[in-house]
Amino acid sequence: MNEVMIQFFEWYYPADGTLWKKVSQEAALLKKTGISAVWLPPAYKGSKGVFSQGYDVYDLYDLGEFDQKGTIRTKYGTKEEYISAINTLHQQHIQVYADIVLNQLGGADETEKVMVRKVNPENRTEFISPPFEIEANTKFNFPNRKKKYSAFEWDYNCFTGVDCAKGIEESEKCIYSIINEYGDDWEEVVGNEKGNYDYLMFSDIEFRNTAVREELKRWGKWYFETAGFDGVRLDALKHISPAFYNEWLDFMRINVKHDLFVIGEYWAFTDVPLLEEYIRATGSRIHLFDVPLHYNFHHASNSGKNYDLRGILNNSLMVRRPDLAITFVENHDTQPFQGLESAVEPWFKPLAYALILLRQEGYPCIFYCDLYGTCYTEKRPDGTEEKVLMPKISALEKLLSARKENAWGEQEDYFDHPNCIGWVRKGDGQHEPCAVMLSNGKENQKAMQVGTQYSGSYFIDFLGNSKVKVRIDENGIGNFRVKAGSVSVWVPENQK
Ligand code: CA
Repeated sequence: MNEVMIQFFEWYYPADGTLWKKVSQEAALLKKTGISAVWLPPAYKGSKGVFSQGYDVYDLYDLGEFDQKGTIRTKYGTKEEYISAINTLHQQHIQVYADIVLNQLGGADETEKVMVRKVNPENRTEFISPPFEIEANTKFNFPNRKKKYSAFEWDYNCFTGVDCAKGIEESEKCIYSIINEYGDDWEEVVGNEKGNYDYLMFSDIEFRNTAVREELKRWGKWYFETAGFDGVRLDALKHISPAFYNEWLDFMRINVKHDLFVIGEYWAFTDVPLLEEYIRATGSRIHLFDVPLHYNFHHASNSGKNYDLRGILNNSLMVRRPDLAITFVENHDTQPFQGLESAVEPWFKPLAYALILLRQEGYPCIFYCDLYGTCYTEKRPDGTEEKVLMPKISALEKLLSARKENAWGEQEDYFDHPNCIGWVRKGDGQHEPCAVMLSNGKENQKAMQVGTQYSGSYFIDFLGNSKVKVRIDENGIGNFRVKAGSVSVWVPENQK
């Protein structure tokens, strides 16, 4: 089948504990829409309790079960509701991908005295102070969990760095490299952004510590046995030693689930060679989000007709490593006001979704907001508020349907005009073909061949954007059309 996953959350989803229930309620409809896998947000307790999106992990073993950080449930619901949502998805034969956040812990239970050095935030390899002592947030002993599932306690030997300490004002926050048994420097990561980007936020995990690695393997096994996911989505790979994930994934695949599906988030901006370097460092163990393709969509959506559509797939992982590319249009980090804000304008989203859903290369991931729409209010830096509306992309369900029915067989490209490109999927024994047309300029048309077996028949625009019919000539060629700044997906008029 033509797989599609959905990222079933967004940054501003209300903190009302309803998300897991919504997953269960929507499961049957998602299946009908053509969704084959669901990526769920981090399920464990974060440092801000119900207000944590889950990336500020406090306790990996608390899936909404223990009274910690002022709440039993997480932002998304209780452990029972989480397990129930996964079971409901499985009943619909939808796979479940769990969000794995292992770069940092937040919300320490106690502080302890540790020796540190300050580093230059723009070049983390440059130490800007002699060693001195701080009271760091590095003790995690989870008093309210009472050692259920694991008795492991974290201390400064489990962390490479922190950015705050007792008695230090928020305004004086700095990055402190911890001097522990494993040295006084950062771990090796892929890429040289900020000199070394091991440190991202909170208390940064020290993977050179064997006890930490063993604990995270125990946890991975426990998590799988508890939740029964089919795959994992690994957060913040830019900040984590690739050697750790090689070891952890090999452990998981040998001891826990041999066919564990793995997606990783390495935010490489537009740098495809950097993604290829990461793929080499991890021996192709991990599929990667096609971040450079997202930026192509972002730039194209802001440039209107000035963007040359012939280059829309250039420098993407979709082209360079189609077997490992997870293609996407938008996510929780790129939506307005988020750290990596790079929204794709609504007019371009149907075009972008056609590119990821109706072509051969890559495994597409659609974003919650694009299927359901959302609206939220956020503060600007000057304190005033802005209302953000992310409309539901009305063509998306039709495009998912076209992926299921018509995105099959040989692919022939007509990337031959800066403002109008097209391609044909020739279909196979079970599926009819489609001819896809995109325009970021004026209304346009293009002759494309769908096959002489269709000579004399008519094709219609499955999306309904173009109302005419296109007759296929004796050479199997149709003169397909597209409206200005739009997309059309032409399919046989008489297909079931
Ligand atoms: Ca790190």
